[in-house]
Amino acid sequence: MKAIIIENPGKINVVERDIPEITDNQVLVKIKAAGICGSDVHIFHGKNAFATYPRVVGHEFVGEIVKIGAATKNITIGDHVAVDPVVSCGHCYACRIGHHNVCKELNVMGVHRDGGFQEYAAVDQEQINQLPKDIPWEVAATVEPFAIGAQVAHRGRLSSDDTVLICGAGPIGLIILQVAKMKGAKVAILDIVESRLEKAKQLGADKIVNGKTTDIVAAMKEFANGDGVNLIYEATGNTKILQTCIRDLPSPAGRVVVLGFTTEDFALRQVDIMSRELEIIGTRLNNHRFPEVIDWFKKGQVQPKEIITHVFPFQEAEKAFKLNDEDPENVLKIVLTF
Ligand code: MN
Ligand code: ZN
Repeated sequence: MKAIIIENPGKINVVERDIPEITDNQVLVKIKAAGICGSDVHIFHGKNAFATYPRVVGHEFVGEIVKIGAATKNITIGDHVAVDPVVSCGHCYACRIGHHNVCKELNVMGVHRDGGFQEYAAVDQEQINQLPKDIPWEVAATVEPFAIGAQVAHRGRLSSDDTVLICGAGPIGLIILQVAKMKGAKVAILDIVESRLEKAKQLGADKIVNGKTTDIVAAMKEFANGDGVNLIYEATGNTKILQTCIRDLPSPAGRVVVLGFTTEDFALRQVDIMSRELEIIGTRLNNHRFPEVIDWFKKGQVQPKEIITHVFPFQEAEKAFKLNDEDPENVLKIVLTF
């Protein structure tokens, strides 16, 4: 089989490998489609502190079951499945209290171990989520990023009563927007790329804010009718923006959900947190949110096609990675087909 491998930062190759063996508790998935994520590109550039090399990246992948382990249940050859890339130990503190996505021994496919940018992958049966066969493969590849949307909705306790600001209108920001609108919230979204803001408008954003030309604090004051914003998603990774989100924008009892993962220090004031009972909430990966998302897809409650801008055969992975880097005006989600 063929696998896309990042040998070292900056070096990507399509190589020949053996088809993986499976254990009794695993299945073999013939990969059909896999989305390229910003974090895959970070691994390509050597900018992801969690990753090791050489690595087959890709954590947004779907395929067909071609082999099943002897101890697996309720899985049939030919099933269409989305693979949850999060693998956990099951017995550490985080796992015991229901946060397996931040397991002490966290082992994410495509980051800590080989992922989905290959023709076949061996995965544990617990990672498998059945897909309706009428969802096209490239659309199904967006189940994992939508599971991030589901996760952040839970983390922020998103409700129809909320006035929401999403910082960043990349694929994840636009997914959070779709989830927030589905839940009935009033939503503003911030970016500096005009085409992404136009897309956000089209997906139902109540207000779009270009951070290059607009004073965010004034714009949000107006948007929230003089109150603060109830729920803020910081998905740009920019510490200056996060600082503004914590200091200047929240309402009393507000929540700021942090999706970025840069390592820079920045200043906070205790009073901004204390006086409003502000919650600053981390979120990582997803915590068994695939079934919920597949249900949204079945019911047509979200528009996954809207974030897919390009589909490439996997042999063109290097070209796809470069395009992802160089053209934020025109690229949202690129999906590789196998
Ligand atoms: Mn991703
Ligand atoms: Zn654990």
